[in-house]
Amino acid sequence: MNFSLLVTIRSSCSTAIAKSGSKMDRKVMKSRRCTLERAEKFISSDYFTDVNLRGRLYGDKTSLSSIHHVAVTDRVSFKDAMRQMKSEGKPTNTGTAYGPIWATHWFKLTFDIPSDWIGKEVHLVWNSGCEAMVWSDIGEPLMGLNKSYDRKDYYIITRNYDGKQTCQTLYIEMACNGMFGAGSGLITPPDVNKTYTLSTAEIRVFNRKAYELLMDVETLYDMAKHLPETDQRSYQALYTVNQMINSIHVSDETTYDAARNIAKKFLTEKNGDSQHTIHAMGHCHIDSAWLWPYDETKRKCARSWASTLQLMEDYEDFTFVCSQAQQFDWVKTNYPGLYSRLKEQVKRGRFIPVGGTWVEMDGNLPSGEAFIRQFLYGQKFFKEEFGIQCKEFWLPDTFGYSAQLPQVMQAAGIQRFLTQKLSWSLINKFPHNTFHWQGIDGTSCLAHFPPADNYSAELQVQELLKTSTNQKDKGRVNHGIMLFGHGDGGGGPKEDMLERYERLKNCDGIPKVCMSNPSQFFEIIENESSANLCTWVGELYLELHQGTFTTQAMIKKMNRKLEFLLQHVELFQSVGCMQGVIDKYPSDVLDRLWKQLLLNQFHDVLPGSCTNQVVVDALALYEDIEITGNSLLQKAVEALVQPAKSFVVCNTNSWKRSEVVTLKTSTGEDQPGGGKRQKSSLKTARDNEGNTLAYVEVPSLGISPLTSPDEIPERVTIENTSDGHILLQNGIIAATIDMNGRVHSMKCIRSDREAVRTSAETNHYGNQFVMFDDIPLFWDAWDVMDYHLETRKPIVSSTSCVILDQCDLRCSIIVKLNISSTSCIEQIISLDMGCPYLKFSTKVDWNENHKFLKVEFPMNVRAVNATYEIQFGHLQRPTHRNTSWDSARYEVVGHKWADLSEYGWGVALLNDCKYGHSCHENVLSLSLLRSPKSPDPDADMGQHEFTYALFPHEGTFQDAGVIQGAYDLNKPLMSYHGNIDQPISFFEVDNPAVIIETVKKGESTNSMVLRIYEAFGGQAKANVKTSLPMNRFVRCNIMEEFNQADVVTIQDGCIQVSLKPFEFQSIMVYLD
Ligand SMILES: [Zn+2]
Repeated sequence: MNFSLLVTIRSSCSTAIAKSGSKMDRKVMKSRRCTLERAEKFISSDYFTDVNLRGRLYGDKTSLSSIHHVAVTDRVSFKDAMRQMKSEGKPTNTGTAYGPIWATHWFKLTFDIPSDWIGKEVHLVWNSGCEAMVWSDIGEPLMGLNKSYDRKDYYIITRNYDGKQTCQTLYIEMACNGMFGAGSGLITPPDVNKTYTLSTAEIRVFNRKAYELLMDVETLYDMAKHLPETDQRSYQALYTVNQMINSIHVSDETTYDAARNIAKKFLTEKNGDSQHTIHAMGHCHIDSAWLWPYDETKRKCARSWASTLQLMEDYEDFTFVCSQAQQFDWVKTNYPGLYSRLKEQVKRGRFIPVGGTWVEMDGNLPSGEAFIRQFLYGQKFFKEEFGIQCKEFWLPDTFGYSAQLPQVMQAAGIQRFLTQKLSWSLINKFPHNTFHWQGIDGTSCLAHFPPADNYSAELQVQELLKTSTNQKDKGRVNHGIMLFGHGDGGGGPKEDMLERYERLKNCDGIPKVCMSNPSQFFEIIENESSANLCTWVGELYLELHQGTFTTQAMIKKMNRKLEFLLQHVELFQSVGCMQGVIDKYPSDVLDRLWKQLLLNQFHDVLPGSCTNQVVVDALALYEDIEITGNSLLQKAVEALVQPAKSFVVCNTNSWKRSEVVTLKTSTGEDQPGGGKRQKSSLKTARDNEGNTLAYVEVPSLGISPLTSPDEIPERVTIENTSDGHILLQNGIIAATIDMNGRVHSMKCIRSDREAVRTSAETNHYGNQFVMFDDIPLFWDAWDVMDYHLETRKPIVSSTSCVILDQCDLRCSIIVKLNISSTSCIEQIISLDMGCPYLKFSTKVDWNENHKFLKVEFPMNVRAVNATYEIQFGHLQRPTHRNTSWDSARYEVVGHKWADLSEYGWGVALLNDCKYGHSCHENVLSLSLLRSPKSPDPDADMGQHEFTYALFPHEGTFQDAGVIQGAYDLNKPLMSYHGNIDQPISFFEVDNPAVIIETVKKGESTNSMVLRIYEAFGGQAKANVKTSLPMNRFVRCNIMEEFNQADVVTIQDGCIQVSLKPFEFQSIMVYLD
């Protein structure tokens, strides 16, 4: 650094020193390390605070005049808290501990600002070791506080005290939880003994000049430290900061300006035109529930957003992006004042709603229809509230991204996508930051991963440098996003971050930084770089957190079940409305139920990475959906049929089904009958519980009286074989099962082909239960590591195996197995008349610690890829470990089925509520239960029920009906009391590759919406027929917006559709 400059500047403030300095040679050989540490100590909050700059931030201070406290029950409104404060408030003071965890305490603070503080900036400093909100005396939320993790512990009462209002009042709402809930470690379960002590409550004079100087020193120190040693600029920063420290007398504020001038000269030396540009956006990733319940999230949003709005007053460039319509809705309901302030900033383009979804959902597990509803409800909310539709999908923090997402996004009017989670992959580094992402149907979107690998940056020098150096598409793009702000109750962006921005926005040596927004960033990429970008095809697989496909089995089971239940309600309610037998479609109730389901799909709830308290809340929401949904369904079916004691059967799949149905006997009497023509020929039997079974035919998406199909398949038989096994046969398949319930042979009878390849030596049989040790490195509920595969232990301890059903329609055995001294399995293996698969209805009493239960099927198939169902389609993954990328996919997600096929032959494994799969060589496994202990020590302990099925097939799985079989397993025929003159199909389609997934009422018009998709992975044409009086059909997007011209062709009363592989379409259908 230029020594003469130092002399010049210092001469302006201290002539005597300058004169003597000019005569002395004070240059020393400088050690980089010592000089850096000198600067570090000068702003340290741990060392030398009595003589360093940090120690000068606060000057005079005084205690509050009074603190009154009241403990309230639950999270109450300001009004209720004031009422209680008035009647029960008592004086308290610092040093008092408050609890228990999750409790709420309110405080009334009164203070007198001393008259000699006129002209000073005055702060309230509050540290209760937990989250808190400052409220004004008229009940406006002002700012969130939380001292831990270096977050904000002060509220600015005035920046320039005018001496007028000496006595003031503020309120504090204290929440007995920290940023990460109430555990003692990051992901440990809540600690019930924890309390929070009020250690600081006072008003202080803040020295803004010292603060600004401190930010200068910090910036230069960071540049000196983090720019490479080979970089001249690093040394320039080092010598500049050293020079500044030489010039500062911390106790003499008159020396501050000169030091700031030294910094200013350095910081305003500009970048070149070609420098990388960083688009900074304020951000506050708040998990809708995780280590805290939904109700606390509502307050976390309010605390963080109040702080953000406050900061917007002080920094006029500052922009903030915010996702999750659900969180906006919470704030709208609970904090109307805050919400209207927020709305003002939305109008100004500073508080920017992003993402377009109801919550930031899990990216793997929701169904295709649920994905669509996330966008439908999200976009609808943003449009109604703010008049905008999001143009980017925002999902920075979920555990892998389905290859169906690009198409769903596009159907919601979105072609841009932001995440960063793939930077967490343990094994392989994802090769791009900015690229085209192409889904299974060929739809592409523009994807960006902020290169700082972080969605809670602090605009620090090292993060800005990383954004440039870590950018993997250098040369193709010269722009990147940086999201800054503390999430999860950390209050969002902080003043420090915005001060750094001011200093670094155009400073030679650091990438250029601009305060930006997603549109601005993506438009630049689209215009300048799009043609040069690489394309990634297929799913974005996260090589971490694969345990989340299995953890918290009950949540996953309810999710699957209720996704279908709501679709069933929509089908029959909308048909009833169109037929005029139902007065009013229950839109409001269905909206509520869908939103509850979508909320539980949040990326720490459905994946199972939440605390027990969250699980309890989620299950309560599910219970409401189930009870209300079933009642709506029953009402709808009853409206569509005549009352009778006989039965009708409902089919919610879009193909005709002939299968065994169990008739309900809730009234104690079951009376098969009602169908006129086939009543006498109806094939019935009783199951082992005394229920009536009937082999019936029901048309596509329809209702039928008990009707027998024209052709009755062979009856089912069961027999003991000479070698002590049991043989089940139904003319389609024949299965040989041993006393442990293991499948020794499974044959397609027609071709006499064997589906299972057994090995006694390694205990490889069909339906072999296996246990693994399951101890991850850290993220307990989240992670299953590859080394668990080296701990395989087959379960072979059957306690009993007996025949249960033995009738023409169904044969079954029941097997009991001990897993360990604390856990056991009871399984019914059954075969139905006419059914192409063997069903395994399983109950597990599960009480384990860090064990993983799977079931294996070694298939007699040679295939290098296995196929797994995803949303509206399927994809393939390797069965080998050729490369590190293949090997890292040792646990993968699949929905209702997975299949292993060679030419002309294959075997599929269906399931009714599982998602975790693995396939190595010929062994296809289904992941059943885990037993992690953090953050929920009770995760998955207790009783479970689930069903899977083995489906061997000739030809391709598509032609063999595997996809339909998996739907049938998940959506059993439903029987209700009632009668209907003849079978009726509301909608049918003539091509098995085309599935009608959804039939619902239009959101805003008197119409119905059909969602159809191509399920086989090829181009398909189909005719869709309806028995309803409808004649006008228009294609629409998933928000049900349409172009009148996009009319669907009708011929011979059928809607003609043409679909690309895995394409889904939405069609709006109007009444005559
Ligand atoms: Zn998150």
